[in-house]
Amino acid sequence: MTSGSAHPFAHPFADTLRAFKPAAGPKGQLFSLPDLAVRFPSVKRMPVSLRIVLESVLRCCDGLKVTEDHVRQLAQWDPQAPRTEEIPFTVARVVLQDFTGVPLLADLAAMRSAAARLGADPGRIEPLVPVDLVVDHSVMVDHYGTPGALDLNMKLEFQRNRERYAFMKWGMQAFSTFGVVPPGFGIVHQVNLEYLARGLHRRADGVCYPDTLVGTDSHTTMINGLGVVGWGVGGIEGEAAMLGEPVYFLTPDVVGLELTGRLREGCTATDLVLTVTELLRKAKVVGKFVEFFGEGARSLTVPDRATLANMAPEYGATLGFFPVDEKTLTYLEGTGRTREEVAAVEAYFRAQGLFGIPAAGEVDYSEVLRLDLGQVAPSLAGPKRPQDRIEIGQVADTFRALYARPVTEGGFSRPAETLLTRHLLHAGGETPDPKVPTTPDTPPAAERFEVEMQANKPTLQAARAAADDGCETARQDAATDVTLGNGDVLIAALTSCTNTSNPGVMLAAGLLAKKAVEAGLRVAPHVKTSLAPGSRVVTEYLSRAGLLPYLERLGFTVAGYGCTTCIGNAGDLAPEINEAITKSDLVCAAVLSGNRNFEARIHPNLKANFLASPPLVVAYALAGTVLRDLMTEPVGRGSGGREVWLGDIWPTSEEVHALLRHAMDGEAYRANYARVKSDPGQLWQDVEGRTGVTYDWPASTYIAEPPFLEGFALAAPSAAAGTASAPHTETAESAAKASGVAEPVHQPVVVAGARIMALFGDSITTDHISPAGSIKESSPAGQWLKAHGVGKADFNSYGARRGNHEVMMRGTFANVRIRNLLLPPLEGGGREEGGFTLWRGEAGEVEKMSIFDAAMRYKAAGRPSVILAGEEYGTGSSRDWAAKGTLLLGIQAVVARSFERIHRSNLVGMGVLPLQFREGDSWQTLGLDGSEMIDIVPDPNLRPQSEAMMVITRADGTRQEVGLTLRIDTPIEAAYYRHGGILPYVLRGLLSDGAGATSSATSPAPQARSTGAKGRV
Ligand code: SF4
Repeated sequence: MTSGSAHPFAHPFADTLRAFKPAAGPKGQLFSLPDLAVRFPSVKRMPVSLRIVLESVLRCCDGLKVTEDHVRQLAQWDPQAPRTEEIPFTVARVVLQDFTGVPLLADLAAMRSAAARLGADPGRIEPLVPVDLVVDHSVMVDHYGTPGALDLNMKLEFQRNRERYAFMKWGMQAFSTFGVVPPGFGIVHQVNLEYLARGLHRRADGVCYPDTLVGTDSHTTMINGLGVVGWGVGGIEGEAAMLGEPVYFLTPDVVGLELTGRLREGCTATDLVLTVTELLRKAKVVGKFVEFFGEGARSLTVPDRATLANMAPEYGATLGFFPVDEKTLTYLEGTGRTREEVAAVEAYFRAQGLFGIPAAGEVDYSEVLRLDLGQVAPSLAGPKRPQDRIEIGQVADTFRALYARPVTEGGFSRPAETLLTRHLLHAGGETPDPKVPTTPDTPPAAERFEVEMQANKPTLQAARAAADDGCETARQDAATDVTLGNGDVLIAALTSCTNTSNPGVMLAAGLLAKKAVEAGLRVAPHVKTSLAPGSRVVTEYLSRAGLLPYLERLGFTVAGYGCTTCIGNAGDLAPEINEAITKSDLVCAAVLSGNRNFEARIHPNLKANFLASPPLVVAYALAGTVLRDLMTEPVGRGSGGREVWLGDIWPTSEEVHALLRHAMDGEAYRANYARVKSDPGQLWQDVEGRTGVTYDWPASTYIAEPPFLEGFALAAPSAAAGTASAPHTETAESAAKASGVAEPVHQPVVVAGARIMALFGDSITTDHISPAGSIKESSPAGQWLKAHGVGKADFNSYGARRGNHEVMMRGTFANVRIRNLLLPPLEGGGREEGGFTLWRGEAGEVEKMSIFDAAMRYKAAGRPSVILAGEEYGTGSSRDWAAKGTLLLGIQAVVARSFERIHRSNLVGMGVLPLQFREGDSWQTLGLDGSEMIDIVPDPNLRPQSEAMMVITRADGTRQEVGLTLRIDTPIEAAYYRHGGILPYVLRGLLSDGAGATSSATSPAPQARSTGAKGRV
């Protein structure tokens, strides 16, 4: 958006603005890093990824959110310095997947509704950067192995998700910068790689800048393979980025991983990424940038690089970056970008000194690691963690060893003598247990993203209930009268953008299938096989290469274009198989080309899950068991009972390369993605979307107007009821002013007479605060759904209902494992689990009830509440509803011994005050039991990290004052807080005369469009 010139600002580095002329296309300008390097020589030797971030900081320097100091600090990045400074990173665009995208769209719609209520033009509410939502997380593999599987699965998908899809269609027509790639086109990161990423953006004033982004999905890093800086963020950060606010992150260490040599014959990019994951996990790169360099990195194709970048969350890094080089240009052209676009990318990156993968010694990294590609061996990873790589010749032995090993040592704790026992399946005999297996509760300390990923799927019950009676199941009848044993492969899935984006490995799978079929091998009937390409182009090149029919012959028919098994949407197994597993406690396996394999992620009854390259997935489907050593035993017996060995069917790299031309046909990509607009499919067209600038919020248990802007006023009152006003800080005030936001603003700077809602111990995760899994019938959310006519079978998960605050606020603190230590200990000393508290009435009455019910009573009485907690409050995956739900329960402050970084900033972003106990203090040392009243008095100027006071009034009337640290960490956060959160802050900016929360200096190109209309260079 354009600036209203709320503040005159002379860009301190205006002299770095240079003319820029690509070989083709219009002239432009750029903020020159080589020119900046004249003043700050260390820029020349900075890691490339960090220089791209620096370009954003330089270009977006507006004296407020991005200051001259920010530019100076980053330009003088020292590879070894202690990290204390945060970088404000303004990204060029945002990508969303459907589960995390819907709540963001709901917030945008709510902003428009609020504007309309004020008589303002709601059309002024528009994402300030292009936003693309790809619908990929919803399709499940209910049907498989038959030609009709894709259609049947999509039909079910639309039945389950119609309300959400209708809402997305409204968003598409309402916002010009919001595009949707409908279901059936592919997976967000592959679509991003093949289509959405254009390489370069151009502002209205002609200034060009590199593509950068954040996405609301952890594997957003896949785009790092294309030289694009970007990573996954939580919903509130994504929302801020969408509204033109910078994403703040701590200045990172950058680890350089030098790749030398070449991959050996028979090794794939999947083998390489499993090796890299193992190496980087050991090197502890959590929270760091990883940048690949050296001759080995140069030798990799972009799809191979993307496979490596995709698994950055698995190796723990913020990103896994490959700079732009000739191979990037080849890929861009081969996937349909125009010559003009490609020429502009090359010219820009060369002009900035960013072109090419550095050689050893050219860049200063915080740490350098090395890997010889020649040492990589064909591998799988598992059976429980992606970093546990096993060379293929060790898989059977590893499984045998783990079978009897204790769970605490990564094993399965089963009696060794039962390993080889087999069980006859009786589909028509014993009555199968009609109980549908459900997604198990997520362990409270689940690894980052696990809980979120588990929840990013419809539940099986809902799937069953939604299934069209006319849809014939693709489950193979032949699953009867076979035996089942430990180590049997029951799911073999060609899945996940990690690999489906890589034609090399997909063609290798097809070639292996062809050779296997020709050799007469078959897949055992009880193996659930599926192919879920990350884009339709995959199907096209497999067809053109003549390989698809062979995959289909082995059961790998297309089951959906989406995440499917990778996100846990593998669908169910045959009832008799489930029964046999649970009855005999079998340890059966899944083999998939995905990136995560935590227990129960793939299927609740499959304990051993192995990640493998697509050709190995097909090979293990053929073998049918992980107990067969494919190095010393045949894969199976083919025609005439002949033994067929892996070496007989493994494709050579020459064979793969000969077919790669089918996968790099720019015209095929262009034609495919043109259909996003011209032919999005009948099912999508049949969804009736609402029209209009504002959403009319029809009754729905999935989508409802979030109440964050209820009572919103453009000129906010100077003080909230029940709170004291305070003078503004210079920084916060100037922050607000310079961003064009009217003053005075909402100032809830004192929490007065609050009740304690909960006393928590250490490591309360965001999943404790806002569970994403199944909804209990007896819970407040379950009761609300029932009261609104939703049967238990249709509850779906909290994750799927993120667009409805009524469900989500009832789910806040409703995790069945959370322990509120405000409740007295149980007999025997244990602690009660579940989201309960002791409500205390105005007349001193005390009653045990759910946290939601107590919150509603406190709210009705006008009484605020607070949370007191231990260390690492809000740890785990970033989840916006953990902060949103806290706000909606009327909790005004959280006082903890320490906070997880993103959750703390999310609390501020929603207008909830985070405070920290001083060293040595805790609610335990203060002797608090929940009967006290709490006042909180922060520094009236809300100075970042200033001293605050907590006044405790005990039941006997005695008072105690305790010093705290205010965990508002930056001036802009103070401004957000004063406005009651980031949404009101930005909305006031957008609706102020001619000005927005983002000045022109920080505003990315308004004409750069989402999928709705491409406007990039
Ligand atoms: S396929 Fe897997 S990695 Fe890719 S977006 Fe889906 S869930 Fe994430």
